[in-house]
Amino acid sequence: MAGEAQDDCLFCKIVAGQIPATVVRETATTVAFRDINPKAPVHVLVIPKAHYPDAASLAEGAPGLAADVLRETRAVADEEKLESYRTVFNTGAGAGQTVFHAHAHVLGGRGLQWPPG
Ligand code: C5P
Repeated sequence: MAGEAQDDCLFCKIVAGQIPATVVRETATTVAFRDINPKAPVHVLVIPKAHYPDAASLAEGAPGLAADVLRETRAVADEEKLESYRTVFNTGAGAGQTVFHAHAHVLGGRGLQWPPG
């Protein structure tokens, strides 16, 4: 069922505490943790605790939860004292998505080029 934890999902395991992560923020519905392979001085992932495979299915299936994730990206940027930052949702393998549990990347702490590669 939509939103249910998946046994084979890495980020569901982080939510369940079965895989370690450096958590920077947690709310009733979201977790934010440092990316294990950072692409910028600040690189935090914000995920919904419930499992949705990507941002589009999250927005479609649980729009309030999608809003929670977006709100948390701002909270992370504030806590990390980022004046400018980038929020990225990779959707689909061709766009670089490797973990199929919706997540927002929050990147900052250096100048960021546009467009991204
Ligand atoms: O958008 P994409 O699916 O590629 O992002 C997944 C991110 O999850 C990667 O940046 C990867 O470094 C990160 N990751 C992590 N901790 C893990 C596994 C992956 O932070 N245990």
